[in-house]
Amino acid sequence: MEEKKSRGLLSHEDMFAQLEKSVLETNPTADMSRIRAAYERAVEAHCGQKRKEGSDYVTHTIAAAQICVEMGLDEDSIIAALLHDSIEDTCLTYEDIAKQFGVTIANIVEGVTKLTRVQYTSKEDEQMENMRKMLMAMSKDIRVILIKIADRMHNMRTMEYQSEEKQRTKSLETMEIYAPIAHRLGMQRVKWELEDLSLLYLDPIGYKEITDTLKARMETLESFMGNVETTIKARLDDWGINGTIASRIKHIYSIYRKMYSQKKEIYEIFDLCAFRVIVDNIADCYNVLGHIHDMYKPLPGRFKDYISTPKPNMYQSIHTTVIGSEGIPFEVQIRTWEMHQTAEYGVAAHWKYKSGDQGAKMGDEEKFAWVRRLLEAQADSDAQDFFHDLKIDMFSDEVFVFTPQGDVINLPAGATPIDFAYVIHSAVGNHMIGAKVNGRMVQFSTVLQNGDIVEVLTSKSAPGPSRDWMKLAKSGAARNKIKQWFKKEKREENIIHGKAAFDSALRQAGLNMAAVTDEDMLPIILKKLAVASLDDVFASIGYGGMTATRAVNKVKDEIQKTLKPTQKNTLERITEKAEQRKAQHVEKQSVHGVLVEGLDNCLVKFSRCCTPIPGDDIVGFITRGYGVSVHRTDCKNYLSGRNNPQDGGRWVNVEWTTAPNESYITTIKILARERSGFLMDIATVLNSLSAKVISLNARDIDGMKSTAVVSVEVKNLEDLETIIARLGTIAGVSEITRGGN
Ligand code: MN
Repeated sequence: MEEKKSRGLLSHEDMFAQLEKSVLETNPTADMSRIRAAYERAVEAHCGQKRKEGSDYVTHTIAAAQICVEMGLDEDSIIAALLHDSIEDTCLTYEDIAKQFGVTIANIVEGVTKLTRVQYTSKEDEQMENMRKMLMAMSKDIRVILIKIADRMHNMRTMEYQSEEKQRTKSLETMEIYAPIAHRLGMQRVKWELEDLSLLYLDPIGYKEITDTLKARMETLESFMGNVETTIKARLDDWGINGTIASRIKHIYSIYRKMYSQKKEIYEIFDLCAFRVIVDNIADCYNVLGHIHDMYKPLPGRFKDYISTPKPNMYQSIHTTVIGSEGIPFEVQIRTWEMHQTAEYGVAAHWKYKSGDQGAKMGDEEKFAWVRRLLEAQADSDAQDFFHDLKIDMFSDEVFVFTPQGDVINLPAGATPIDFAYVIHSAVGNHMIGAKVNGRMVQFSTVLQNGDIVEVLTSKSAPGPSRDWMKLAKSGAARNKIKQWFKKEKREENIIHGKAAFDSALRQAGLNMAAVTDEDMLPIILKKLAVASLDDVFASIGYGGMTATRAVNKVKDEIQKTLKPTQKNTLERITEKAEQRKAQHVEKQSVHGVLVEGLDNCLVKFSRCCTPIPGDDIVGFITRGYGVSVHRTDCKNYLSGRNNPQDGGRWVNVEWTTAPNESYITTIKILARERSGFLMDIATVLNSLSAKVISLNARDIDGMKSTAVVSVEVKNLEDLETIIARLGTIAGVSEITRGGN
């Protein structure tokens, strides 16, 4: 019988006998008569069909069912697996199955059939559509994808009988779609086997190279693993800890990937071995960890506690990498038996422990929230975006952070508080004004780490997301929500504001809306402004992408070019008047001592980051809703932001008027050696110069150095330079800088 099995030609009767035995071992309460009925129905339906290697076709569905049993799936799954190809390949219908086995099983079989019909393609947009179909099927009943995975597993195991072309496409699909899904579902063992089988066909030479090398080193590796196992076991026995130790050589694809990504030769990869200690309870997990770290030197940065912070696919274990006596590093995973089941079979193990009760179902809802999230995100983004986002969300590594209430939120690696806020709710993201990580205020660009507790501060009057957030957000879902906000919600508002600004600028230029919306004029103007509609112009003015004056100037040029001479005279007259009015405005414009090119009467504020004063070279930034903020041309915000395409057109020329105001507030930073009386000396110097101090704060940096930040009122740069020169004479001062640098 062994020999027959190795050739893959077991009879279906033998295979079913084995299946029955396995079901009885793992699931003694299963209704064997239903399972047998499904088997008989499948045999009958597939009668006469053969597999490539010559066995009856039905042996494939029994093998798939066997894999389902090994995954720990329930009775319905086993029945559905036996029938999984019957709608597609035989005369059995959905109704036949529903009538004999119930609607649930018929639905699962139909779901698997739909997935089978999904043709793998290397075209991105089609791949996307396929992935979407799979997710749809999964979100309805996760067993559909589990059976599909079992089906694929058996097909991959028997791939040697297929054509080279089929071997290649199926392996590629398995590597790109099924292995990542298995990973997301927490099915490590399944993922490993799928990856190794795929690699065998995708790069047979690379595969053989690794297996040959492993074979050659097997004796050494086995003796090493044996020694470590014995040593750990002896220690646990001494301390009365009941633990089971197992070791393995890492799966081939993981070695292959390491060779490829780290460009290493196999003999350079030391941690080929992994050890696992399985104990009875969580307390023992930590006990064992203590012993391991006592026996071997732990490698820094390689310790991970997925017991206190489980992965969203439910995986729990403690991981640590230590260095053995021969200087060989190896990984040890420590977990309980229940965690072990989950680690091996992921979601599938779920049925083993909590079959059928309502609580388990609630849990599933939570666990598959990411599937739903992906589908939601898909509903309002275009196909390319969705697939790109999906790839990121599905395949990139992830971080797990907490809400202040202790809920685990799973985000892609590199995620920021912006991603976090948008996962909680779009409204939370759109109203975010600040974020705390582990109780401290952080910048929105802060990259979240595993285990961070993240809190989002919101305000109803928050101005909404800024365009920079799109770059700071790591997850496709967050970026998509921000984009939506700009496209939809804010567009209406932008149009209203922009239209009002445009209208008033038009009137200042002696024109009116009618001149622009004129039937003959409008198409010319739209072409000149390179937009599809006037609303686009308004929206752009509304968010600050274009100034109303600039738009009107362009419009005016175009109208002047087109209008007849008589009309032109009238226009000139009106324009002249407007110029006169503009001249009268000059005084008003310069209330801040700053003139803004192309903008009259606009609100001006001095940026806090670099606190410019007369004498500084300056530049203006058109903010959203807060007028123009004036920065120094050496301000780091300007230097880093000026080439940002999204802010295109928002930087404008500004200049100091000949008669600036009496005083401006500016900030300077003083770095000094730590000593007593430092602050007093600063105050004395400032006082001797009659400088008006707005604020003065000092703090220690490290007990050796301290910084003082002074806000002071000055007339101009000359004033400030005098102050800086005098402050520089204070004992211990090593550096004085202005804010913004
Ligand atoms: Mn099949």
